[in-house]
Amino acid sequence: MKERAIEMSMQGPRTHWVGNGFKVSNYFPSGQNLLERFTPFILLDYNAPAEFAPSDTSRGVGPHPHRGFETVTFAFEGAVEHHDNKGNHGIIYPGDVQWMTAGAGIMHKEYHEKSFSEAGGIFHMIQLWVNLPKKDKMTEPAYQAIMNKDMGKVVLGDGEGNITIVAGEFEGIKGPAKTFTPMNIYTIDLNKNGKVTLNEPGDYNMGILILNGSINVNGESHDAKDFILFKNEDGAVNIEANSESVKIFVLSGEPINEPIAAGGPFVMNTKEELRQANEDFNNGKFGKEEF
Ligand code: MN
Repeated sequence: MKERAIEMSMQGPRTHWVGNGFKVSNYFPSGQNLLERFTPFILLDYNAPAEFAPSDTSRGVGPHPHRGFETVTFAFEGAVEHHDNKGNHGIIYPGDVQWMTAGAGIMHKEYHEKSFSEAGGIFHMIQLWVNLPKKDKMTEPAYQAIMNKDMGKVVLGDGEGNITIVAGEFEGIKGPAKTFTPMNIYTIDLNKNGKVTLNEPGDYNMGILILNGSINVNGESHDAKDFILFKNEDGAVNIEANSESVKIFVLSGEPINEPIAAGGPFVMNTKEELRQANEDFNNGKFGKEEF
């Protein structure tokens, strides 16, 4: 089968702090301006594995608002806690996902879970922003705690590795996340020389981020922290592990072909809607600030 061509590959820019808990590289939109190119995925902050010293003070980000999209947090090492002003609270551990639909407006805080923070250790996570289509931007806020044990699982042959499906599907095995537009999100774990072929719809925007190890992608060699964007065309993505403990994060989604007006914590379709979001927030319409 024809291979799906690589459009470009990159590593993220130098890290910056989000609050005092997340040491992230912003792969997009600031690393590469993929805002319209890679919808529905509009932001990816990657906290590559980093050692955090034991801390008696909370590490994270205090209360802040969002409107018009979804924040999705993937924990790979360490533990992340979430509180929002709609009464949702959750802690995710390695392999788990928090999927928050900001919709019409919510305030949340996100931080290292207390006992992890006190003990210190390696922290490794992704925060992804998933855009909402115009018709759903003002939907009721929602929160999905997606535990690893509830995700779809595919075991590859001959001990080559396995696939864990968060959203959409891989070869007919479905993930539990409820999404507003069609998308497939999964992680791939491969042992050395393990192989897998991805056949995502050619009209979906598709990219992968290597979280650990070294791989060949359609014969091209790539290492941890590389993000690889594929052209929009039918074809196979052939992956082979060149090292032990390979971990890959896969994003594939139907584009949302609508204008994007992004400003701070709000992602709308027009500047007027952004102005309205700021006005509504300043007028207390996002609800209580103490939670
Ligand atoms: Mn947030």
